[in-house]
Amino acid sequence: MEEESGAVRLEIDAARCIGCWECLDACPQMRNTEYPVFARGEGKPEVINEDSCIACLTCQAICRAEALTVSGGSGKSPWPDKRAWAKCRAIF
Ligand code: SF4
Ligand code: SF4
Repeated sequence: MEEESGAVRLEIDAARCIGCWECLDACPQMRNTEYPVFARGEGKPEVINEDSCIACLTCQAICRAEALTVSGGSGKSPWPDKRAWAKCRAIF
């Protein structure tokens, strides 16, 4: 059986991304000022510290363009699916 490395991978589909920055605003690891996950690139986010990602899946869930994919990691997301996040958005 193949062993899981647990390494997190973040992929942004530049063709889908609308540059709304919601993923950056929602990411808890953007408060990690030394090693933030993302930087504001040319109108779209750039992943600069993938190792800082805790695989909470918040960015993937909040992305309305479905441009961001998180894979690997512990899978301990507080957001079981996109509908759960959408409900939170509706409340707040
Ligand atoms: S939330 Fe999605 S569409 Fe918005 S900037 Fe992030 S990746 Fe792009
Ligand atoms: S999965 Fe969580 S920690 Fe990782 S980039 Fe997305 S919001 Fe940030």
